[in-house]
Amino acid sequence: MSGANEIKRSWQHYIDGRFVDSLDGTRIPVVNPATGEVIADIACAKAADVDMAVAAARKAFNARLLQNMRPVERSRMMHRIARILLERTEEIALVETLDNGKRISAARGDVAAAARYFEYYAGMADKLEGKSIPLGPDYIDYTVHAPFGVSAQIVPWNFPLQIGARSIACALATCNTVVMKTPELSALSLAALAQAVHDAGVPAGVVNILTGFGHEAGAALAGHGDIDHLVFTGSVQTGSRILHALADRVVPAVMELGGKSAGVVFRDADIDQVITSTRGGIFTNAGQVCSASSRLVVERPVYDQVVERMAAAASALKIGPGIEDAELTPVISDGQLDKIEAMCLRAVQAGATAASGGRRVDRPGYFMAPTVIAGTTPSSEIAQNEVFGPVLTILPFDDAEEALAIANGTDYGLCAGVYTRDLARAHLVADRLIAGQVFVNEWFAGGIETPFGGMKRSGYGREKGVEALLGYVQTKNVAIRLTAGATGRPGA
Ligand code: NAD
Repeated sequence: MSGANEIKRSWQHYIDGRFVDSLDGTRIPVVNPATGEVIADIACAKAADVDMAVAAARKAFNARLLQNMRPVERSRMMHRIARILLERTEEIALVETLDNGKRISAARGDVAAAARYFEYYAGMADKLEGKSIPLGPDYIDYTVHAPFGVSAQIVPWNFPLQIGARSIACALATCNTVVMKTPELSALSLAALAQAVHDAGVPAGVVNILTGFGHEAGAALAGHGDIDHLVFTGSVQTGSRILHALADRVVPAVMELGGKSAGVVFRDADIDQVITSTRGGIFTNAGQVCSASSRLVVERPVYDQVVERMAAAASALKIGPGIEDAELTPVISDGQLDKIEAMCLRAVQAGATAASGGRRVDRPGYFMAPTVIAGTTPSSEIAQNEVFGPVLTILPFDDAEEALAIANGTDYGLCAGVYTRDLARAHLVADRLIAGQVFVNEWFAGGIETPFGGMKRSGYGREKGVEALLGYVQTKNVAIRLTAGATGRPGA
């Protein structure tokens, strides 16, 4: 690193314990979304580089490098990664802010969260216990949580460090080796994680991290004949494509896909709390959050008040680069900005109202104005499809059944929320919302300790919490005949 706000210009893959360029020497430019300027470049993996990474992970798995460590040693190794990340917080946060666009305080938070994933799962490395199953005096029977082998992991650009860390930490805790394909639009923080993994003394080949385009490196990894498991976080469309590739070889997967999550606001809710919670829920990370609060479904008597106050809260946000810790930062790319703005323009053309925003901001970089859309219907495009930008759609309802029908009425099932002071209603509505996580009176309530994942097209499997580890192991049952005279009868 050189002067203030400058980062290393040239970045590489991490394969088999070494930092290397692509075999064909190609590179991907790294653009600062706050300015549109190229600030660095990173190696661009192709199928041949993916082959090398998978071969390294296979070799490390077959050599039982992780299984041969005592669980407490693996745990200490993971704690070392966490410590190194925390020591490098400022350096990594700067890289993330300039590469991804997010505010610097959030980037610091991502480093802390990444370290927490390693700490949390380090604590589980010696606690994943099997069962003993009674079969009578002639047998001993027990189960073992066996790793899959080579875990392929494909990461999106919105929270690359957190999402990458949670998958690698689970893999290390369960003795899987890793090949990670980082997002081409925001790869650098994971390259910094590779350095932390290396410096923590993780054996060569156990973790391999490379960067490349989805249709090249991503497709080569998902379609590779020698992976045993895949963790994907990204869009439904890409997830579905990857699942087709995996189906040929019956490779198991964890799928963390998109969302169109609704907060249901009853008239007895604390409206101050609704506004504060939703402002964070939709404008954090410029709305580029899979679990964003992208819809509010509001009981009619308080609908106008909520629209007006959300629009005021949106308009009051300080817009600017992440490095200035502005509240509303740029979206990741010009392509993404075009897509978001076009969706808003189509909504307004179809009769909706932009109570705030609705257009890009006239300044360098990729800034979308914080947008509140009202006066539309639950079946409209803007109310059904993931925008993945700072755009909130607010819809009215007249009774709880209608609220549930609207909230549950998309293809997605990632998150949902309820705002009410009535505890019984909160429980009853939470029970009927179709979502992997339900937030009551605070969007994003929960944490690293709580299982996270989707229902319906938002995916399956869970990340975070103890439960995530179950997505990285397969149960092996060992049944032992202790006495002579085995029956050999199946199912006896
Ligand atoms: P994306 O699906 O475009 O890309 C995700 C990753 O897949 C990237 O690394 C990309 O290079 C790779 N990829 C693209 N095409 C591929 C292919 N054919 N084969 C293999 N890999 C391929 O998603 P994105 O735009 O990076 O991220 C936004 C999406 O991710 C949103 O839908 C968001 O909701 C979702 N997301 C979900 C979660 C979650 O935990 N559920 C978290 C973050 C983001």
